[in-house]
Amino acid sequence: MGWAIALHGGAGDIPRSLPPERRQPREAALRHSLQVGVAAIKAGRSPLDVVELVVRELEDHPHFNAGRGSVLTSGGTVEMEACIMDGNTKRCGAVSGLTTVKNAISLARLVMEKTPHIYLGFDGAEAFARDQGVETIESSHFITPENIERLKQAKEANRVQIDYTEPLTKVEEAPPSNGDSQLGTVGCVAVDGKGNLATATSTGGLVNKMVGRIGDTPIIGAGTYANKLCAVSATGKGEAIIQATVGRDVAALMEYKGLSLKEAAKYVIEECAPSRTAGLVAVSATGDVAMPFNTVGMFRACATEDGYTEVAIWDDETCG
Ligand code: ASP
Repeated sequence: MGWAIALHGGAGDIPRSLPPERRQPREAALRHSLQVGVAAIKAGRSPLDVVELVVRELEDHPHFNAGRGSVLTSGGTVEMEACIMDGNTKRCGAVSGLTTVKNAISLARLVMEKTPHIYLGFDGAEAFARDQGVETIESSHFITPENIERLKQAKEANRVQIDYTEPLTKVEEAPPSNGDSQLGTVGCVAVDGKGNLATATSTGGLVNKMVGRIGDTPIIGAGTYANKLCAVSATGKGEAIIQATVGRDVAALMEYKGLSLKEAAKYVIEECAPSRTAGLVAVSATGDVAMPFNTVGMFRACATEDGYTEVAIWDDETCG
């Protein structure tokens, strides 16, 4: 029993040849966000506060596919989405189709706390953001040159893709990476020393997604889920994660089959989600951590009360 935090910055076919100048800023952002979360949990902030805080950090980082770095729809626009959930109470909030909200995760929390609903999307969600006075910025703030280039490439190849240059099904034949294209959806899970759990996930979705497409991130039980046993945040190909009900299945295997967090998370990623589509970070009420993925890599980090810390991308390597 003890506190634990895990976070991710996206799963996918991250090439092992990722050059240092593109790898290091992301590792630094993971490390920094982890430190922010650890300091908050040590200061006695609730897991819900911690996951919101960490995801806000990651949303503000242009190298991840959420907030500032959100990838573009086929129309060249941003449509951000996010979800937050408290494990003990199962209270949750979700948003989709945001075009001007700086930190989608905080709006999701307001949906949870200030409305009788769970999920708001598009114009209604934007109007709610204005009612609540959350920070908004011109859409152009979110449209980075890297994401314009990424959309161009996806359109040329006529594909909808996870936020990596290589398509999931054809990585071998894929054109070489244009370099600065490895970024990802962000998420964070946390548990305090009393077993209170929370999860938060935020994303721009898939490159060249249809306008109006909703992925797994804001779907409770798919990309984001927490109950009294565990908190889960998933990343990868949203349609596959929804079909596999990734978040809820991890919890259900623990609840109904008595599996440990690590066993449940491994089973869902290896047996339920199709190969090369998904990864997740999860913590249990007893302070265990699991971070499995069936893609080439997943940007991730974790820390536990007993002093364990990890920042990693691929499966056989910890980034010091
Ligand atoms: N799961 C996200 C989506 O499909 C994408 C990602 O995790 O990178 O919207």
